[in-house]
Amino acid sequence: MAGRHQRLGFARFFPTSAHAADYIVYGVLSMKQSQMFIPTLKEVPADAESASHRLLLRGGFIRQNAAGIYSYLPLGYKVIKKIEAIIREEMDRAGAQELLMPAMQPAELWHESGRWDVYGPELMRLKDRHGRFFALGATGEELITSLVRDSLNSYKKLPMVLYQIQTKYRDEKRPRFGLLRGREFIMKDAYSFHATWESLDEAYQKIFHAYCRVFDRCGLKYRAVLADSGAMGGKDTHEFQALSDIGEDTVAYSDESDFAANLEMAPVVLQEGQPAEDRLPLEKKPGKEEADEAHLIKAEWFKTRTETVLVFLRAADEVNDVKIKNALATDLIEPLSNDETLPDPLHPGEAVRVLADNGLKSVVRGVLCGVEGRTSYVNVDPARDLAIEKYLDLRFIKEGDPSPDGKGTIRFAKGIEVGQVFKLGTKYSEAMNAEFLDAEGKAQPLIMGCYGIGISRTLSAICEQCHDESGLIWPKALAPFDIHLITVNPKNGDQLALSESLYHKLCAKGFDVLWDDRKERPGVKFADSELIGCPIQIIVGKKASEQVVELAARGTKERTEVQTDKLDQAVTELLEKCY
Ligand code: ATP
Ligand code: MG
Repeated sequence: MAGRHQRLGFARFFPTSAHAADYIVYGVLSMKQSQMFIPTLKEVPADAESASHRLLLRGGFIRQNAAGIYSYLPLGYKVIKKIEAIIREEMDRAGAQELLMPAMQPAELWHESGRWDVYGPELMRLKDRHGRFFALGATGEELITSLVRDSLNSYKKLPMVLYQIQTKYRDEKRPRFGLLRGREFIMKDAYSFHATWESLDEAYQKIFHAYCRVFDRCGLKYRAVLADSGAMGGKDTHEFQALSDIGEDTVAYSDESDFAANLEMAPVVLQEGQPAEDRLPLEKKPGKEEADEAHLIKAEWFKTRTETVLVFLRAADEVNDVKIKNALATDLIEPLSNDETLPDPLHPGEAVRVLADNGLKSVVRGVLCGVEGRTSYVNVDPARDLAIEKYLDLRFIKEGDPSPDGKGTIRFAKGIEVGQVFKLGTKYSEAMNAEFLDAEGKAQPLIMGCYGIGISRTLSAICEQCHDESGLIWPKALAPFDIHLITVNPKNGDQLALSESLYHKLCAKGFDVLWDDRKERPGVKFADSELIGCPIQIIVGKKASEQVVELAARGTKERTEVQTDKLDQAVTELLEKCY
């Protein structure tokens, strides 16, 4: 707790009760609830489908203005500012410099990068009175590259990391779950510029660790996962996934190590098994042969922009098109449509590329259906009978598979992507002609990285993880207030006087206090307090005349009676124990 006081400094007292905010502790305001704008709701709004959305609306943290567009009310904005403060500290510590770029970005820049045409309807576009087009920033690569190319041209200034916290716009097809997928949302976006790939690797590591500290400090349960660099045309990328059942992504993680990857990226380790059976001659039979999981093989057909691809794998496994795409270094892969006539899988023809999943290496008496199940091949030895060009890892990992790092077993969890780090390379610098002069005076394209955190999404992800049926339970680092001081009956003179003196004392000690001084029924006050979810509640009730109050932790709901002269100490200890 000493550390906390050092961090916050001393509270300053403004002895004017005309203001709701009596205390300012480095911009953090203690408040009287009677004067604060916290429009809590009793009813669950019908269109709110996730816990975070419901509770943020009900607790008076946010209000919707249009689909996917929200106002952050004073409580919600306090939490946002706390997340932002943590992000700023960690980015600054990693050597990044904050700037602020406009949300309105000239269309010419998006034409230069080629994204005006490929970004699609998610990019919000508008025209000014002179007929010039603009994009509302969905992300900032174009803008930052244009700034840097005009003003950063020597290797001596590199590496450089710049970041901003700025509202972003994406006209999402399905805005949902409140702040989790908005059309207007708050993002921290950072960009790094380098003369060498090694320098990019270093910055990537540094920012990766800064992100870990950000999410640790926010009290989020998350995994940093290997992700697919896909169409963005870069190299390495990791996503930070907050674990939550409503997440849209599936994370494959080890139950015994730090290994975690997005489902489509998790490598399957080869379980070297020698075929346990002797080979038999291949047979062709009419109809569809039944076989057990260990023997059944399936054939799946795909096309890229230029070729047809046939993939063999065990029938019990699921083919992973991202792995095929990456193996063939192509940007597009899709299943052959049903109306295309398929050749017999044993005789696909010269032009077809034939790949097999590693899992077939140990099969020698396979059973494979021919076209439309009219025939079956029995005793298929893939190496002997199928025209396989290469064995590769082409299937989705499964729960129960060994972890690729050799430690533990794979489990699945659902994740919400709260951040991403990405090695962009020279994609934007080449397209937009952003060069620097190296030590020999030669012009080279800048090597870039980009790094995003969804701030409003992080807030929601925390709510998904930290709540119960009656409201939010904020981790203490982000709680809008440390303490909710509740006067059960403000018409009672003892209760009012004691509450007032405690409020001033606690504020002066550096605690951030919300004082419920409203003349509401106790039931209403307690329900609101549960909804708002401050880590600690102090209840001033019947024993006020004896200088005794109740102290409760929102997370555990444990209540103890405390003599007010021991309250400081008790609050400090309880807060220490809070998550
Ligand atoms: P998603 O796959 O969820 O659409 P993305 O990968 O397109 O997200 P990025 O371009 O990586 O998103 O943006 C950086 C961060 O911004 C994301 O990690 C996420 O936390 C946040 N973010 C992206 N889209 C939204 C949105 N519509 N609403 C709120 N936050 C978002
Ligand atoms: Mg992303």
